[in-house]
Amino acid sequence: MQDVTANDRSYAAPRTCAIAICLDGCEPEYLDVAIAEGLMPNLKRIRDAGTNRLAHSVIPSFTNPNNLSIATGRPPSVHGICGNFLYDPDTGEEVMMNDVRFLRAPTIFSQFYAAGARVAVVTAKDKLRALLGADLKFDEDRAIAFSSERSGDTTKAEHGIDNASAWLSRPVPEVYSADLSEFVFAAGVKLLRDWKPDVMYLSTTDYIQHKFAPDEQGAKDFYAMFDRYLGQLDAMGAAIVVTADHGMKPKHDATGAPAVIYVQDLLDDWLGAGAARVILPITDPYVVHHGALGSFATAYLPEGADRADIVARLRALPEMLEVTTREDAVKKYDLPADRIGDIVMISTENMTIGTSADRHDLAALKEPLRSHGGLTEQEVPFIVNRVLDMPGAPALRNFDAFFYACAAAALEEVPS
Ligand code: ZN
Ligand code: ZN
Repeated sequence: MQDVTANDRSYAAPRTCAIAICLDGCEPEYLDVAIAEGLMPNLKRIRDAGTNRLAHSVIPSFTNPNNLSIATGRPPSVHGICGNFLYDPDTGEEVMMNDVRFLRAPTIFSQFYAAGARVAVVTAKDKLRALLGADLKFDEDRAIAFSSERSGDTTKAEHGIDNASAWLSRPVPEVYSADLSEFVFAAGVKLLRDWKPDVMYLSTTDYIQHKFAPDEQGAKDFYAMFDRYLGQLDAMGAAIVVTADHGMKPKHDATGAPAVIYVQDLLDDWLGAGAARVILPITDPYVVHHGALGSFATAYLPEGADRADIVARLRALPEMLEVTTREDAVKKYDLPADRIGDIVMISTENMTIGTSADRHDLAALKEPLRSHGGLTEQEVPFIVNRVLDMPGAPALRNFDAFFYACAAAALEEVPS
């Protein structure tokens, strides 16, 4: 195989399987705590003998923008996916961005596939699978792309594999479970051993991270489980990058109540009811574990509104870390200008942004709120099981995962 170009970046032809693992919501502290407690012997060994860095995610620090950045090697300004849905100001409709028609750049996987490689993509939630699997063809047994969520319904024609659940001898997991992610790892191990991909992407869900802080048992169990699979992947000689789509921070007050600033209510006060439209791009059909509350929001303002004045008023609020115009946000965060509102808001570390108080079902939150979306969840682990010469944050981005996974997989010497 030759080197492969995707979105103007060149990826070294791998000699062994190049794997990127996206641990959803993996604030670096999760790994530090688990390693300190001796629960991740494989990751500890890999971190010590390989390359251990921190990287920055893309903003908003949400799942889809970051997974698509990892899959394309580029920020949202290039691939277009800047949230779970977008707002069309002309129709007043909110449109889910799960469909491939919203994707503006080819994935690294599709480019490797076109170059003749064997490509495998396994995600926890099905919402990502279509986007990540864009342009893969399943008729030559060189591509596999499926989610653990829908692993019982996969077909050779659409996913490259019939009934992945039966193939793996694991029942289809509950959507809200640690199992949903464990299924991804187990599938990765079996694919590497039996199907031998050249490039593989494994992407989990942050159900556990929304629920448990790093020092809680549920989190420790999760990372100990991951470490066992990581050890197997490493032992088979694959070049592995372990990173995350974003971090995770507590977003509640001392009593455990969610910390929220309701910006739609504020703008309704200032501009008239419903004149402005606040969009929370974290919103999706799976909101149970975060109540649709994150640290990033955008708003469309009515024509004639004094934008500078609104920005200044929002900036003055202690709950806000940063409030910018669309133009500044586009430049600073590499966002697609046509898919964000007139202003962008990012809340502080332990604060989330809501629309109106009556539109969030906080009763669904069983634990004190933990969430993401802002600048304070931008720092993520970036660990390679090879020695590579590479920068750290902020120059290193989580979407450099395949660049370095391929560089590592192209190395001649495999350290033992
Ligand atoms: Zn995520
Ligand atoms: Zn999340």
